[in-house]
Amino acid sequence: MSNAEVVMTERIQIGISSCLLGEPVRYDGAHKNNTYIKSTLGEYFDFVSFCPELSAGLGVPRTPIHLVRYDHTVRVQTVKGEVKDYTESLSQVIEQIKPKLPQLSGYILKKDSPSCGMERVKVYEAEYLYQRAPEKVGVGIFAAALQQQCPNLPLEEEGRLGDAHLRENFIQRVYVYYRWQQLVAQGMQPNDLIQFHADHKYLIMAHDQDRLRTLGQLVATAGQVADFANLCESYIRQLMSVLKQIASRGQHANILSHIMGYLREHLDKEDRAELVETIQKYQQGYLPLIVPITLLKHHFRRHPEPYIERQYYLNPHPGELMLLNQV
Ligand code: SF4
Repeated sequence: MSNAEVVMTERIQIGISSCLLGEPVRYDGAHKNNTYIKSTLGEYFDFVSFCPELSAGLGVPRTPIHLVRYDHTVRVQTVKGEVKDYTESLSQVIEQIKPKLPQLSGYILKKDSPSCGMERVKVYEAEYLYQRAPEKVGVGIFAAALQQQCPNLPLEEEGRLGDAHLRENFIQRVYVYYRWQQLVAQGMQPNDLIQFHADHKYLIMAHDQDRLRTLGQLVATAGQVADFANLCESYIRQLMSVLKQIASRGQHANILSHIMGYLREHLDKEDRAELVETIQKYQQGYLPLIVPITLLKHHFRRHPEPYIERQYYLNPHPGELMLLNQV
């Protein structure tokens, strides 16, 4: 996706497997409505729903399809009764949603589906169809095409969103990517990239300190390179990859202590002791991340520090989503 293609809307748009919004598009005419996604996330995001199988012309109801391995290729087929092969039509279906992809800041996929599943989808061996249990090693054909088409787009499966850390991580990536897309849409300049990197410094550092350094070295060349668009592409690709790593409690405690350092001259002994203890208790697993972050923000309200105020680490997504309350 080239930078020029991106035109952003005000509300964040997320692509989603249609059945997760309650649309009766599954092979048996049922749906897989997910209330958290539809009601809670729906307050913050606009969903762009897409059912690859329906769009590829498979009707409702339809015979279920599966991933089937033949030597070195994997096909998408019905495995009961007469074998019908939908590999070609499902490979092409990405073309139908392609015009909408540049506006999306994330994508939520239905797990286990031979079309939408992001990982661990059942793969049957053609030779031993009824003798051997399928292995859970496949990727849905649409999900694979989506990853190839939009390598930087945050993707997640609805099943994994049930895990508090994965959920927080996905929404964090969506917001980072959305901010990036907005800058690109406005015509990003070297100074914009430098500011973007500075504002995300502690957020990136929480995921990987070494790769923060690598990204910083890339940004340092922003004003000198001939091909700035290429540098931006390299930056966002690396950044989105770094952010996929789940930050540990130890890494967060390190960042919280770093940020606390900016309050050194303002805190009295008791306040400092309270902050240190809160960070320690968080690190030991007795408190969720929202507690030390709230305490830090309380002190920064009284002793403003412009550089810290701009750090997305302290405000990665809307507080009402309460994503930091469970990690
Ligand atoms: S999992 Fe994907 S292909 Fe299957 S019904 Fe849902 S949206 Fe359609």
